[in-house]
Amino acid sequence: MVASPPDTSPSIHVRGAGPTGSLLALALAHQGQSVLLEDPLTAPELQSRSRAYAITHSSRRLLQRLDLWTSLGDVLVPFTRLDLRDAGSGGRVLFGQQDLRRRNRRHQAIGWILDHRPLMRLLLARLEKSPHVTLGLGRDQDQMTREPAAFVVAADGPSSPTRQSWGIDVVQHRYRQGCLTAKVVLRGVEPGGAYELFRPEGPLAVLPMADGSYQVVWSAPMQHCLDRADLADGAFLDALATVLPEGVEPDLLLDRPAAFPQTWMLARSLRHGPAVLVGEAGHRCHPVGGQGLNLCWRDVETLTDLVASQGIGPRTAARYSRRRWPDLLMVGLATDALVRLFSNRHPLLVAFRQLLLPCLALSSPLRRLCLSAMTDGPLRVGRPLPD
Ligand SMILES: Cc1cc2nc3c(=O)[nH]c(=O)nc-3n(C[C@H](O)[C@H](O)[C@H](O)COP(=O)(O)OP(=O)(O)OC[C@H]3O[C@@H](n4cnc5c(N)ncnc54)[C@H](O)[C@@H]3O)c2cc1C
Repeated sequence: MVASPPDTSPSIHVRGAGPTGSLLALALAHQGQSVLLEDPLTAPELQSRSRAYAITHSSRRLLQRLDLWTSLGDVLVPFTRLDLRDAGSGGRVLFGQQDLRRRNRRHQAIGWILDHRPLMRLLLARLEKSPHVTLGLGRDQDQMTREPAAFVVAADGPSSPTRQSWGIDVVQHRYRQGCLTAKVVLRGVEPGGAYELFRPEGPLAVLPMADGSYQVVWSAPMQHCLDRADLADGAFLDALATVLPEGVEPDLLLDRPAAFPQTWMLARSLRHGPAVLVGEAGHRCHPVGGQGLNLCWRDVETLTDLVASQGIGPRTAARYSRRRWPDLLMVGLATDALVRLFSNRHPLLVAFRQLLLPCLALSSPLRRLCLSAMTDGPLRVGRPLPD
């Protein structure tokens, strides 16, 4: 049901129209809430980021609820095998669709890779069409709305000016590792295959995209990332060839590799009176396991459910903050533990990995448990999944 358009000024202000703020504005508009969505970037700028996201089943369910999943059908690239390898111990674990929980299995993918550009194109097109959304894109600070709103949501990214103006502190750990992303054409990967390769310098993810291209997310000490980002195309592909699994060859570089620092960050509170932080304004984690955007979208799901059941106000903000903390903390700790456990050659840890990975390779319940925590979120493990 689509509620009639509002006749008053928007009661919810969402600051930041990245993938989190845009999806939240759309989800609230679906409920008939009137929303103002503001961002200093224009619509073309918001779509221009060269990045691909690993989409889990928790995100799939939210996109289905919001009637976006089918429209993204042509651009979602499913992967049906996840090949996890540890260079330090020589261990290997293959995750397949049989390791998913039954309700997820019928969707015939462990996960999907989604390019930022078609995602943002669709979100912005739907927002423009919605009678409940007022779009304020390309506004500089002076043009941003200062009128008080009943409910303010900060979705303005990791350096969130709104979080800072509210005086909310963050707990953070800066990794020595940085992360380099690049799009490449690869030869020799089995169709439907994705890799998570643990190497002593850091994890390397190889994620399938359309037309035989792959997104590489390559973690290593920050200086190595910067040096590799500066290499000429041929030299970069040569360097990449030395770390890919045997039989997989890079053929072509499709964009300029970009290096980013990596941080684990969690805001001490996700609320400020009746206002809240969502997405990377409130938290960040290491990209191992591709959890980042999925965590942000679980914020969106929790907040929209709470707004639907008890309206907007300080109680909703307080409940939202309490409900999101356990998920954010567990995923943050798990990704951090993975990085610490695998990014080294310490003999004791290598010996532990030599025990752990064969157990995982042999035990289907253990693989199912890991995959469920990754794709449904740790709080859904052992609990019924929604339709
Ligand atoms: C190298 C790298 C690889 C990644 N890979 C993955 C992956 O494989 N899978 C995955 O799920 N996630 C991944 N992530 C994480 C993912 O990119 C983020 O989770 C996602 O971008 C967060 O979205 P967001 O909307 O919360 O923040 P952002 O995308 O940062 O958007 C914030 C928005 O707020 C706007 N803004 C800034 N200041 C203001 C202001 N004062 N007022 C209003 N608006 C403002 C900005 O212009 C921006 O549009 C990766 C991140 C990095 C860095």
